[in-house]
Amino acid sequence: MADEEPFDVVSEGLAEVHRQLLPLDGGEVAAYIPKLAQADPDDFGLALVSMDGHRYQAGSSDVRFSLQSVSKPFVYALALSELGLDEISRWVGIEPSGDAFNAISLEHGTGRPANPMINAGAIATTSLVPADTTVERFERILHTLSAFAGRQLDVDEEVYRSEAASGDRNRALAYLMHAAGSLRTDPADAAEVYFRQCSVRVDTVDLAVMAATLAAGGVNPVTGRRVVPEQVAIQVMSVMATCGMYDAAGDWLVRVGLPAKSGVSGGLAAASPARFGIACYSPPLDRTGSPVRAVAALRELSPRFGLHLMYRPAPGGATVTACSTVDKDSFGGHRTDEQRALLHREGHRIALVAAQGELDFLAAERLVHALGTVVPAVPGWVIVDFAEVTVVRRWAGGMVAAVLRKIAALGHRIALVGLPDDPARPDDPLTVEALSADVARHSGRTSALAWAEDALLAELTGSPAG
Ligand code: GLN
Repeated sequence: MADEEPFDVVSEGLAEVHRQLLPLDGGEVAAYIPKLAQADPDDFGLALVSMDGHRYQAGSSDVRFSLQSVSKPFVYALALSELGLDEISRWVGIEPSGDAFNAISLEHGTGRPANPMINAGAIATTSLVPADTTVERFERILHTLSAFAGRQLDVDEEVYRSEAASGDRNRALAYLMHAAGSLRTDPADAAEVYFRQCSVRVDTVDLAVMAATLAAGGVNPVTGRRVVPEQVAIQVMSVMATCGMYDAAGDWLVRVGLPAKSGVSGGLAAASPARFGIACYSPPLDRTGSPVRAVAALRELSPRFGLHLMYRPAPGGATVTACSTVDKDSFGGHRTDEQRALLHREGHRIALVAAQGELDFLAAERLVHALGTVVPAVPGWVIVDFAEVTVVRRWAGGMVAAVLRKIAALGHRIALVGLPDDPARPDDPLTVEALSADVARHSGRTSALAWAEDALLAELTGSPAG
């Protein structure tokens, strides 16, 4: 479950996807790096981090695993921040190769690797990170990966040793590039730093924070710190969109529609720009080297949460226009001094949240979070004002309805303002009929507030308020 989210329907949505996909078998745990073969094929973690830094998770999201190829976009981000796209592109291309991750995909004549997401391009990118020594180069990489994750990461030394002991193909790629003049450092050193970066350890939530940092334009939404310039985040996500899923990149872009990167340990990070960072962990891999359950999960989550890059985004503007309790202000009409004093003292038992515009998943997440911050600790009244809401997307409506049912189950009385009865959507999950709770309908905010305040005053004074 997420930290400090009282109505965590987002984690519940993730848990539903987790339940649905856990039985999915197929795929093989990577064995060419012997240590990776020891991973538990049933581990399956899911995490989602919002642009406000809210974290949601399901399954084995606290199991740690090595980043492997998921490190590539983040190290590319570091290299771009230091040297810029023009300089980096002289050494590493930005064209999808359509080849497997470990292919010898080097440009004819120059030896330049096709892109930074395949191993050859990643090794070349790593060697471009400015540093005087190999140790310093890796320190800088670890520092950047940690800043993306928002906490100090470390290396899984066993994975590192295993990879270094079985890494001849990657060393061969480094030597080939060096022979062709496309690698700037000693090839053996380049491969070593690359092996260490692949062995950096994260859990699924760390990885979702890393993806969210790219999605937020380079600012870590949990720590609030800028990790890379916005332009770099855009460049990295672009390369992830076209090359991140290797020879399955086209299929991925059509079906899921998100910049993403997978790794052979079973990790997958996807960035939904200005919306969410998403991560999955599940060790069994398909024939392209991507985790089977993670791919299935993103195929499920992308349409459900409306995340596809080509999906028409909701018009901008604040979603939540009011989020308050009555003790801060009395809204409900004329009151005597004594009633005002009572409302001032006990008004924290009446919560009001108002939303506007299109209620899609992104907006619903914000609305639900806002409700969590004001719903009273003791049974009270909760008013949700939808008067300015223009469209309720189906899954978002279901999510808000689920939260309202939870709020009702806690003993609160609920009033909904201005939700249109739409005969075109008889089964809209947000219509009152579909709510198994006792919900009052009001045409305006003032009348809803007066209803709640009257009820509170009556309870406090033992007589109906006039
Ligand atoms: N360290 C792995 C390798 O170089 C990374 C590959 C991957 O995750 N696709 O083989």
